[in-house]
Amino acid sequence: MFASLKNTAFAAAATIIALPAVAEEVNVYSYRQPELIKPLTDAFTAETGIKVNVAYLKKGMIERLQAEGARSPADVILTVDISRLAGVVNAGLTQPVESETLAANVPAQYRDPENHWYGLTTRARIVYASKDRVADGEVTTYEDLADPKWNGRICTRSGTHAYNVALTSAILEHHGAEETQQWLEGVKSNLARKPQGNDRAQVKAIWAGECDISIGNTYYMGKMLSDDEQKAWADSVNVIFPTFENGGTHVNVSGVAMTKSAPNKDAALKMMEFLTSPKAQEIYAEANFEYPIADGTEAVDLVKGWGTFTPDAVNLMTLAGQRDAAIKLIETVDFDG
Ligand code: FE
Repeated sequence: MFASLKNTAFAAAATIIALPAVAEEVNVYSYRQPELIKPLTDAFTAETGIKVNVAYLKKGMIERLQAEGARSPADVILTVDISRLAGVVNAGLTQPVESETLAANVPAQYRDPENHWYGLTTRARIVYASKDRVADGEVTTYEDLADPKWNGRICTRSGTHAYNVALTSAILEHHGAEETQQWLEGVKSNLARKPQGNDRAQVKAIWAGECDISIGNTYYMGKMLSDDEQKAWADSVNVIFPTFENGGTHVNVSGVAMTKSAPNKDAALKMMEFLTSPKAQEIYAEANFEYPIADGTEAVDLVKGWGTFTPDAVNLMTLAGQRDAAIKLIETVDFDG
């Protein structure tokens, strides 16, 4: 009798022990592509046992989070561009995350002073210059792009694209509205054709002889070099890191934030700490030819080979704050018209 009770109790205990623990999960809304995110989420799951569910979005993250409200499954958001990060923060859809690990992993320049977002990688917005038609040292500053010597020689994507809005916001921060409008008018009058296509299409246009310089993000050099058709475009240009006359080279970030309603807060924090770790930053940066930001981390050799630069010191949230004013000026000069 006793023995049988004991056995039953033992069996019950064994059953409880054998029950799988409730699996931890974290849900991610990402504007970044699966090929960038998957290696990191796989590594995170392997290290922590936490399952990661990712919804890859092309647009409408703010609207979706707003519509879902407190019932949103999203814990973490991943995106590029400071105006997109600031947009989600300013819409009240994130929460501050205090963590010694996060603060140690991400230099102060690349995280929100209020701790609502943390940067993971940076990219510089630079000049691609024809190897044949642009001499060394011919372009050194962003301001110089408005110089009439470039008349009919510049190609760029739309002025209202987030990348160009951020660059214009930086000009605005350095020089004020009046000079920024003059700069936009000057660049517009130097364009070889109306703004169109993406950053790579401008390098293709240099290769084809339509223009001599273009504005683009650094990582596209790596992407073009990795593509059989586009390699010739990349081979026709030099990468130039311009600076502001009174500053450094314009950079933008990719970053991560925790949603206000995160249902899996602990797992979300673990994931943010994992993503910002120096090792993860390097993997993430390598996948898209970007720059990791933690002290002691390095870009891959190909990226380092494009040259060194000093990132402009303007605070990124300050830039985000100039976004609306920058768009207004871009529209005032009818940049794309
Ligand atoms: Fe891009």
